[in-house]
Amino acid sequence: MNRPAGKDVINATCPWSGKPVSAAALTRYRGHVVGFCSPGCRDRFEAATQLFDAQIRALADPAGRE
Ligand SMILES: [Zn+2]
Repeated sequence: MNRPAGKDVINATCPWSGKPVSAAALTRYRGHVVGFCSPGCRDRFEAATQLFDAQIRALADPAGRE
């Protein structure tokens, strides 16, 4: 996966801590680049969104078809 560019980040501060976003702690979500103050905050977000995305997919399609 390409590393997102800091210029494209849509938020200025980390949603967990309120600290400024770090260029080393970016990820993509729903086609946008979102940022965090540290890789730990980013990883916590990624873990949560992956969990919920998987559960929502399972609800929408119980048979497991894509
Ligand atoms: Zn943070």
